[in-house]
Amino acid sequence: CFCKLKGSIDDCSCSIDTVDHFNNMKIYPRLQSLLIRPYFRFYRVNLKKECPFWVDDGTCAIRYCHVQPCHDDDIPSGLKGEIPQLLHVNEDSIDKYRPDTQVINCEQTAKDHDKELGYLNTTISSENYKEFERWQLYDDAQDNFCVEETNIGEYVDLLLNPERFTGYKGASAHRIWRSIYLENCFRPDNSPNNFIQSSQINGMCLEKRAFYRAISGLHASINIHLSAKYLVSIKNSMSFHNGVEWGPNLEEFHSRFSPEATGGEGPGWLKNLYFLYLLELRALNKATPYLEREEYYTGNDENDSETRVAVKNILEVIKSFPEHFDESVMFNGGSQAQLLKEEFRQHFRNISRIMDCVGCEKCKLWGKLQIQGLGTALKILFSGKFDQWTPTLNNFNRKHFYLERSEIVALINGFGRLSESIFELEKFREMMR
Ligand code: FAD
Repeated sequence: CFCKLKGSIDDCSCSIDTVDHFNNMKIYPRLQSLLIRPYFRFYRVNLKKECPFWVDDGTCAIRYCHVQPCHDDDIPSGLKGEIPQLLHVNEDSIDKYRPDTQVINCEQTAKDHDKELGYLNTTISSENYKEFERWQLYDDAQDNFCVEETNIGEYVDLLLNPERFTGYKGASAHRIWRSIYLENCFRPDNSPNNFIQSSQINGMCLEKRAFYRAISGLHASINIHLSAKYLVSIKNSMSFHNGVEWGPNLEEFHSRFSPEATGGEGPGWLKNLYFLYLLELRALNKATPYLEREEYYTGNDENDSETRVAVKNILEVIKSFPEHFDESVMFNGGSQAQLLKEEFRQHFRNISRIMDCVGCEKCKLWGKLQIQGLGTALKILFSGKFDQWTPTLNNFNRKHFYLERSEIVALINGFGRLSESIFELEKFREMMR
């Protein structure tokens, strides 16, 4: 079977079998019970932001694209009073110190930052606290791989809106994927303006390969989900949820991943899912000391305490994984490597903006969540801030290492999507057998 993948995961030393066993036996069941807890169930997101790149295709009329609104009574009391960090500072200052989110060339980026930092260095000595806060905001923005939201949006109940087949396809969906792969992923020099073939990837450096594999892994995960939770039938029967039954569609899965249907590329895309899984797993492992001390506050003491125990338990299991992804081999090599890292970050920030152009609300919800989750993982791995994090750091430093609640929710839910994809893949393998 083409989906019985063999060998080790590209750019990692770990084998597919090791990940399958670890995920399906240990991680997946734990995440399933963690993600229904109130802290992780409600995600705050702005789904109304305008697409910054082209005129919107208009709101999708497909019934299954609709995101069900959250009932105010369902939102835990502790989350209603949530004040995001950015609200402490006035909006003008945020825009002033936020780096340009356009993709620009690396030298330009380095020069601009020097200029701004020079200005900030002179003003910080004035001991003006507001200036200090601005400086800190600027500094935080340098670590972020996603564009920060100025309008924080509304709570969505993720359990009410599961990721599954919506029917979103055609020109609108293709424009998003084309824009991501052709304009915002790294490409081999002089390559034709087409989707990259797996044979071309090895000609690129590790960092650029990793970027491509992560995006391709996310794309594979989305397409596995829509094949595993496909619209199987519509009936007027009480046994169907709202008259609709969702289930696996082997033909759909085959048409998206078999070598015959994809010019031989499909199995490589599936392997990229494993690469992304290992990358996010390592980020969780690296952020363990931080995540273990998080309050997971929702206003219900008993529930919050159970959540802390469940998180601690899953982090212990993650710690026991034998072959974590090694991020320390990336972005080494002086100023060139730093420029590459900046370019990497700018490309990713652009992808986070493209998510506002997705023409199906439900796809946008999960697209934004998963991109924010991956952006948080990249921040943990590459900002350097989590390299030295220990629970004993004083308040100043702890503020520096701050993860917003939405980042934590996106990180764990995003990882949950990948974990479920690997689990669903095993079910497809069984069906093919
Ligand atoms: P697409 O999946 O649109 O792919 C376009 C091209 O990309 C392919 O022709 C192929 O050359 C290449 N490609 C495909 N897979 C990979 C890969 N893994 N790696 C590298 N290259 C690849 N639909 C739903 O039903 N439910 C959802 O929740 C959903 N969420 C979405 C979220 C986002 C952000 C986007 C952009 C789309 C989403 N979609 C969703 C739509 C879905 O992903 C497909 O775009 C749609 O089903 C059309 O599929 P397709 O066969 O034309 O190829």
